[in-house]
Amino acid sequence: MSVIAEHLATVRHRIAAACGRCGRDPRTVELVAVSKTRPAEDVREAFRAGQRIFGENYVQELVAKAADLHEPVEWHVIGHLQSNKVRQIAGLTSLIHSVDRLSLARELSRQWGRLEKVCNLLVQVNVSGEASKSGTTAAEALALVREIARLPHLRVQGLMTMPPFFDDPEEARPYFRELRLLADRIREEAIPGVAMERLSMGMSGDFEVAVEEGATLVRVGTAIFGER
Ligand SMILES: *Cc1c(COP(=O)(O)O)cnc(C)c1O
Repeated sequence: MSVIAEHLATVRHRIAAACGRCGRDPRTVELVAVSKTRPAEDVREAFRAGQRIFGENYVQELVAKAADLHEPVEWHVIGHLQSNKVRQIAGLTSLIHSVDRLSLARELSRQWGRLEKVCNLLVQVNVSGEASKSGTTAAEALALVREIARLPHLRVQGLMTMPPFFDDPEEARPYFRELRLLADRIREEAIPGVAMERLSMGMSGDFEVAVEEGATLVRVGTAIFGER
């Protein structure tokens, strides 16, 4: 077994254990293997170990890797996305986790519309309010979701967040909980075309806590591929 395959097995096991602790079905948690800075060969290795969803931060890197790989992997964009780069990834990705402004949503709508496809997205919320983090504020999230929902060729599927970094993952718990409660509040609005059924939260250091708080997508890089 390769090191990557071993790490993947460990991460999947830890997700299942976290689900066991809170009575969730492990099939409701999708693992996004964050392959940024990693060569295509590492993605192939993970694919051979059964991994299908890969997360990338940089458009250039994603486009190059996607061209290099012929395996049917699913690409997710998880990092800050510039509107002028959207055209390059139109139709290539199955989920954008990091939509934090209307101008970006407009460009996604335009570029996916050209292909007559629908772009699935999550709205990134800066729950902690840290200046260094992207994301709309919790207070503005509902309004942003409403405006995005009016655009064609888009489907808002839920929310994403990145809490501050803590040595103790327990300290991230309130931020994960806050995101879930925010999604619940937005779901109650029953906005047409808005599902709010996916929550992207949790990374290598805190994904188990995120699962306990309701994550349906965890974004794990280091624990699978090693230190960057
Ligand atoms: C890099 C990155 C991750 C993965 O981080 P690890 O600590 O390596 O698991 C998850 N989410 C986002 C948005 C990232 O940029």
